[in-house]
Amino acid sequence: MGRNRMIIVASSLFLSLVTSFLPAQATDVTVLDSCAKKTTGKIRVITEGTCTSKEYSLGNTPITRGEHRPDALVPQFKDRYLAAKAAAKKKGDTLQITSGYRTLERQTYLYKRAIKKHGSAKEASKWVLPPKKSNHPWGLAIDVNYGVGGTNGKKAAAWLEKNGYKYGLCRRYKNEWWHFEPLVAPGTKCPKMERYAS
Ligand SMILES: [Zn+2]
Repeated sequence: MGRNRMIIVASSLFLSLVTSFLPAQATDVTVLDSCAKKTTGKIRVITEGTCTSKEYSLGNTPITRGEHRPDALVPQFKDRYLAAKAAAKKKGDTLQITSGYRTLERQTYLYKRAIKKHGSAKEASKWVLPPKKSNHPWGLAIDVNYGVGGTNGKKAAAWLEKNGYKYGLCRRYKNEWWHFEPLVAPGTKCPKMERYAS
């Protein structure tokens, strides 16, 4: 056995000795993710691999503003909503988005209209945030079942308020039963509700 060969054998022996005492390497661990079945919304936590094509990937963090303004709802936020919607449907509750992504122009229009209605910018902001503050133009806020009557309205939204955290969705404001945002990692408790937007 040549000297080089001996060094290689010795070092690989040493390496296997060391690694056998170490826990699984960080590089072996894939990020924990939640997948939800598209038809039922049933959630499955995965420790490795990816969600199947029959599942939505719910992610494992809150969803926050991106670098650039989108022109639609943030896809994973939408998937979370669709998974929750499927689960609600199984329980007899029908959810629908009555306002989701808004352009800055639309938000500006709604804000100005609210100022006229409520008399001041401060009062208006409790219901419609100014364009720069609102998460609707960031594709990160949805209003569900607003203006929808009967049992498909408020009751179904209450289902989402109770169960939304499983999908990472939270009702944010005490004065808006219809407004939800992806504030938490799926399966994590939602933060305390704010009195109103400001
Ligand atoms: Zn809203």
